Amino acid sequence: MKKTTTITAAERNYVIEKEKFVPVSQYFGEDTFNTKVMKEKLPKNIFKKLMDAINEDTPLDADTANVVAHAMKEWALEKGATHFAHWFQPMTGITAEKHDAFVDPIAPGEVIERFSGKQLVQGEPDASSFPSGGIRATFEARGYTAWDMSSPAFIKRNGISTTLCIPTAFISYTGQALDKKTPLLRSIRALSKSAVAMLKLLGVKNAKKVMSNLGPEQEYFLIDMDYFYKRQDLVLGGRTVVGAPPPKGQELEDQYFGSIKERISSFMHDVEEELFKLGIPAKTRHNEVAPSQYEIAPVYEEANLAIDHNQLVMETLRGVAKKHRLAALLHEKPFAKINGSGKHVNWSMADNNDNNLLNPGTTPQDNIQFLVFLIATVRAVYKHADILRASVASYGNDHRLGANEAPPAIISVFLGDQLTQVLDNIEKGTVLKATNAEIIDLGISSLYQVSKDNTDRNRTSPFAFTGNKFEFRAVGSAQSIATQVIALNTIVAESIDEMAEKIKAKAKDAKNINQAVFDVLKSEIKYVRPILFNGDNYTKEWEAEAKRRGLPNEKTTPTALRALVTDKALDLFEKYEVLSKVELKSRQLIHVERYIKDLEIEVKCLNNICITQIIPAAVAYQKQLAEAINAAKSALGSGAVVSSQAELLKKIMNLINSIYATNKDVLAKVETAEAVHDEQKKAEMLASKVKPKMDELREYVDELEGLIDDETWPLPKFWEMLFIC
Ligand code: ADP
Ligand code: MG
Repeated sequence: MKKTTTITAAERNYVIEKEKFVPVSQYFGEDTFNTKVMKEKLPKNIFKKLMDAINEDTPLDADTANVVAHAMKEWALEKGATHFAHWFQPMTGITAEKHDAFVDPIAPGEVIERFSGKQLVQGEPDASSFPSGGIRATFEARGYTAWDMSSPAFIKRNGISTTLCIPTAFISYTGQALDKKTPLLRSIRALSKSAVAMLKLLGVKNAKKVMSNLGPEQEYFLIDMDYFYKRQDLVLGGRTVVGAPPPKGQELEDQYFGSIKERISSFMHDVEEELFKLGIPAKTRHNEVAPSQYEIAPVYEEANLAIDHNQLVMETLRGVAKKHRLAALLHEKPFAKINGSGKHVNWSMADNNDNNLLNPGTTPQDNIQFLVFLIATVRAVYKHADILRASVASYGNDHRLGANEAPPAIISVFLGDQLTQVLDNIEKGTVLKATNAEIIDLGISSLYQVSKDNTDRNRTSPFAFTGNKFEFRAVGSAQSIATQVIALNTIVAESIDEMAEKIKAKAKDAKNINQAVFDVLKSEIKYVRPILFNGDNYTKEWEAEAKRRGLPNEKTTPTALRALVTDKALDLFEKYEVLSKVELKSRQLIHVERYIKDLEIEVKCLNNICITQIIPAAVAYQKQLAEAINAAKSALGSGAVVSSQAELLKKIMNLINSIYATNKDVLAKVETAEAVHDEQKKAEMLASKVKPKMDELREYVDELEGLIDDETWPLPKFWEMLFIC
């Protein structure tokens, strides 16, 4: 690139000076209206009522809401807030907020700051401009936001503007979910109910609630903002639609865990400071495999909070990057042929006494409990592998799943050798007796060792057991993790229930409950075998083997999304009151439509880039070459050897022609697809007919990139974007 290559790395070392250092423990959570603040600011009886409402999932009376709202407003004013906003998560996958000022006129020319319980508890944003999948007709555009008491309100600073944000659920006028939080909260409740019932069946007396815990590891790229703004594909779609791989990529394996560049460290520090203020326990930061790729991971939290926090992490990465003149790319595959970004969602279940149900225990009873919840999860993943696959389906993630650094589109479960051995023993009947009094010999001295020794983690597995949690690794970096957690919670709730039914049926004739549990485990282990795979998921052999086992392998989003509208899925989500059939169908449609829109945006960018940037640059160079050939000939006559220039000229002209023709073909195919009225079919057509043509077009452009004068090439190249920072 013309100008940017002359800028040295040192000039780009953008340093933000810090005034003073304050230990994190002194300001962690200072921008949240958390339990500690509520205890301090609220009268004792009000605080108790609020806590009861949060813990028991009961509604709040109007008087209490008024007192809480007042205290919240006073606190927010101290923080400099002028506005409040109901903060919600519509089906766009990101967050939304509508700001209202606290000011309230009381007399001509006079205002006071006011915030009522009603304003806290409920909002009525116009819902007509959010994706609804046909649920909400525009003439009934009203939507409701309802305060989610379980996630603390927080302060959002943006430039000099400060806003009190209240996490809310977003529903239609008729009470249908228009967001990700509503079904998430329902799925949390469903899982809790099923898991508590199972614990009771297993003889645990004091379990009241089971939570799902989440630790999402977020991957992202950072590039210099100057480059970012020179690429409309990055600005508008988040992904480079053309661009050749750099001479050096990640082959030296020197990036992963490498020492972090100064500019990036400063950025990370700033991000973490923002997150700490919001009470987000950012813990780990490191360089990822690809050049300019990084990861941030918080300590795990309860699912609802963790999901709100992941949204805030993504927002903060984007916002703070700008301050550092960087662009944070959260797309799953910003650079072709370079590793993409995922989000490893670590998931487990814990009861209200903080016992992790997926933690192998030290006592026989703990072990039984562990095995039940472990097998229930594996069973759910097997039974609904198609639903889990659909939950990670997006246009962006299609570029990643099945590529060489990401798990394939085939869902399988990794348990590791030790646990597999335990399951083998149970299935083979090596474990014969299981009385309540006896130590259960699982063929391994203590299952506790599993969590300690499970170090041979299979990095290729889409769903891996890693000691005391499952790690769902097929999730895309830009996705809202609510989608997968809703699915996971619901399918696991069902498997827990179905296993409980079987245990109860057996327990009638078995001497004790443990024997019944073992009988059920034995048959369930046999049932789930096909989903278990400890080998390398990246190989062709696995793809063939998975096919033999009958595991689904949907490679594109449109076909994968079909799994959400099968009777099996519709019945399941309705039975657990997570999503009604209407709600699920509308969601599926939203995802299909989103795929179409994402793809079509890229097609338009690709067209613009080819016609208005690449071809003009190539034609200019073509002219230069042609003129050079003519000039050489007229200077030297027939003695001029111009064969190399002529060859180059022909190559360039051929590529220009191929680019023009293929681009035309892409547009024609989009037009054909556009004429199809069924959205599902349209999306499938775009995936099968248009996407491969876009890839072909890219090949021509990338070849041309290697032939054209660097001074003339109109786009920042990969080596610049990935290495100059
Ligand atoms: P990795 O080797 O995959 O990076 P880490 O130990 O760094 O593994 O953990 C990754 C994430 O898993 C962190 O966010 C961590 O808090 C989370 N995690 C740890 N234990 C649990 C658990 N029981 N449930 C859910 N998430 C957990
Ligand atoms: Mg991990």
